[in-house]
Amino acid sequence: VWPQFDVGSFRPNGRGSLLVSAQIIDGKAVALALRQRIGDGVARLKAQHNITPGLAVVLVGEDAASQVYVRNKGIATKEAGMVSLEFRMPADTSQAALLDKVRELNNDPSVHGILVQFPVPDQISQQAVIDTIHPDKDVDGLHPQNAGRLVSGLPALTPCTPTGSVILAKETLGDLTGKHAVVIGRSNLVGKPVAQLLLKENCTVTMAHSRTQDLAGMCRQADILVAAVGIAHIVQGDWVKPGACIIDVGINRVASAQEGKTRLVGDVDFDAASAVAGHITPVPGGVGPMTIACLLRNTLTAACRLAGVPEIDV
Ligand code: NAD
Repeated sequence: VWPQFDVGSFRPNGRGSLLVSAQIIDGKAVALALRQRIGDGVARLKAQHNITPGLAVVLVGEDAASQVYVRNKGIATKEAGMVSLEFRMPADTSQAALLDKVRELNNDPSVHGILVQFPVPDQISQQAVIDTIHPDKDVDGLHPQNAGRLVSGLPALTPCTPTGSVILAKETLGDLTGKHAVVIGRSNLVGKPVAQLLLKENCTVTMAHSRTQDLAGMCRQADILVAAVGIAHIVQGDWVKPGACIIDVGINRVASAQEGKTRLVGDVDFDAASAVAGHITPVPGGVGPMTIACLLRNTLTAACRLAGVPEIDV
C-alpha cells in the first residue's frame, strides 16, 4: 500500500500503528576504519619525519578489568605501528612513587602519550595523577589545562570516549549544526567534555544530570541524545523523540536470562528506544570501540605537536 517504503523496516508497536526501526550505528566498523587511517598516519610520520609515536600505559594493582583494558590498548597501539610501553606497579605503590614514574615519562622523549589506568588504589589521588601528567602528553585529555583549552576553543587533547561519541554522531548525521543535543551526565570524564564537543559542532546543548527536573521531558526534545549515567535502561522508549540519534555511553553489567551469567547493557532501553529513534548505538559495539581508536588518535596528534611537525589529520 506504501510502495515507496521497505515494509521490512516497519514493525507493529502493539497500538495499531507502525513504527520505523532505528538504524544501528556500527561503532566497531567506524573504529576499525579510524584505526586504519591512524595506522596510515603513523606510517607517514615515520617516513617523513622518522618519528614513531610511543604510548606509555601505567597500571597500578591487579584489577582484572583494568588488566584486560591495558592488554587491549597495548595490542591496538602496536597494530597502529606505534611503540607500546607498559609499566605495572604493585597495588601498595605510594602516590609519591607513581607520580615519580609519571614525571620520568614526562621527561622521556620517546614517550608521546601517557595513560595511567583508572581506578588507582585508594592511597593515590586520581586528581594528583591527572595534574602531574604533562598536558602535551595527556592522551586521556583529562588534565585541567586540556579541559580549559577545550572550553576556550583552543587546540586540546580531548577525552577519548566523548570524542568517539561525537565522531559517531557526525558519521551518522553529517553536519550537526543547529541540532538540539541533550547530554545526560556531567562527569569530567564523559558528560562535560561531550557537551563541549557538541557545542563546538554548533549544536544547542542541554546538560541533564541527577538533579534535573523532568528528565524524560528534557530527553524528548533531543535530536541527539547522549546517555552517560551508569544506570541500566534509565532512558526508556517514551523518552525518545521520533527519529532521534541516540549515543549510549553507559556500560552496565546486569544479570542475564541464563542463570548465574551476566551481560552488558547501556543506559538506554535498546529495544524500546530503537522502535522510536532514527539511529542508535548498541552496547556493546557502539561507543566502546571508539575509545581506544581515539586514544591512538590523540597519541598521533601528541607526537606531531611535541615534534613541532604538521599535524596528521585522520
Ligand atoms: P559518573 O558516575 O562519573 O557520572 C554519572 C553522571 O550521571 C553524573 O554526572 C550524574 O549527575 C548523572 N546521573 C546519575 N544518576 C542520574 C539520574 N538518576 N538521572 C540523571 N542523571 C544521573 O560516570 P561516568 O564516568 O561519566 O560514566 C558514565 C557511564 O559511561 C558509565 O556507565 C560508564 O561505565 C560509562 N563509560 C563508558 C566508556 C566507554 O568506553 N564506552 C567510558 C567511560 C565511561
